[in-house]
Amino acid sequence: MQIDLPTLYYLTIGTLLVAVAMTLWERQAHPRRARELGAWACAYLAFAAGCVVAMNRAHFPGFTGWGLANILFVLGYLMILHGVVRLDGPARLRHPAALLAALALLWVTVGFHVPGLFWNYVASLPIALACGLTAWTLLRSRTARNLRSRPVVVAVAAGHGLFNLARALLTPLLVAAYGEELLPVFGKMTMYEGVLFSVAMPMSLLALVREEAQGQLAAAARTDYLTGLSNRHGFFEEGARILDRREPHRPAALLAFDLDHFKAINDRHGHAAGDAVLGLFARVAREAAGPDAVLARLGGEEFAALLPGLDVAAARTVGEGIARRFAEAAAHRDGPGIPATVSVGLATAQTGLSDLSALLSAADRALYRAKAGGRNRLEIAAAA
Ligand code: GH3
Ligand code: MG
Ligand code: MG
Repeated sequence: MQIDLPTLYYLTIGTLLVAVAMTLWERQAHPRRARELGAWACAYLAFAAGCVVAMNRAHFPGFTGWGLANILFVLGYLMILHGVVRLDGPARLRHPAALLAALALLWVTVGFHVPGLFWNYVASLPIALACGLTAWTLLRSRTARNLRSRPVVVAVAAGHGLFNLARALLTPLLVAAYGEELLPVFGKMTMYEGVLFSVAMPMSLLALVREEAQGQLAAAARTDYLTGLSNRHGFFEEGARILDRREPHRPAALLAFDLDHFKAINDRHGHAAGDAVLGLFARVAREAAGPDAVLARLGGEEFAALLPGLDVAAARTVGEGIARRFAEAAAHRDGPGIPATVSVGLATAQTGLSDLSALLSAADRALYRAKAGGRNRLEIAAAA
């Protein structure tokens, strides 16, 4: 199969323009990643413009077309890097304009005198560097850490970087050994690899953003909107996982909470004040239960805490501590200033229950006894 260089150029330009359109289209669906997707769309546009200039470089005065095409390409790679750096927060690339100006100066002072050397070899070095930095940034990115498409983007960026590094360092040796007739072959190889890159990079970056949005949706589906704790769905998912992975005979406890006379709080102080009391309970419980606890709002004014590693005595201390602190904070004048208490039921896996729903039922029965016994107290489930 014979493909000439202009055909490869046209193919790359077309692919890049499609990538611009797809990225801008996707941008509307991801307002939180609008800047990153915008930067990437600009990058593909810069690549396409670079290809147009490179194809027509003979029509530019002197060797300005060669330098301009190289600068447009490097601008594109810097825009990709900029978007990738921003994934972890509103950081910015330092001095990109200075870098491009330095490259332009290098072309004017040296490049125009040895254009072949610059175009065929030196021009690839900043590209290799920008791609290497893109791969490195993604490898260290907190945001991308758990995304399946991260290794794909890293591989695409690193692969393209290595290709350009090889072009800069190996091809001069090969040309010296086998002659100048290799140059057009390397030109075609570069453009062919460029076509692959201009498909793979936009696709994998779009996959990264889509996957991140999907993860955020899944997390929202597991989270209670009012308190930020897990909801029932999240509690059963994470709680069951923790109980399943537990070493045999390692204790675990479950506390079930139900705020006392909460309907009366709503009736007397209004629904918004009721919401503030729910938020306060969540904060107190999170502080008192420790980092290993799985906390959830199961619905309405009912909460649960799974405490891995805690036996009945330790869990009782935690449960009573949460109840005491909550009552103090609710009545405090810096808080809602509403007298509120909570009843607690405690069940432990030691009672022979290791299934989360059975544990919760046992804690609920104990909670019922706490209500019947006068509220604002903790009751412990009897052994199964
Ligand atoms: P008990 O001591 O027996 O638990 O009495 P209670 O009033 O707390 O129990 P009940 O189940 O009768 O009332 C629960 C109330 O919780 C009723 C409902 O209006 C209120 N509630 C449920 N969800 C929310 C919410 O998201 N915000 C507010 N402010 N109130 C809520
Ligand atoms: Mg209730
Ligand atoms: Mg209640």
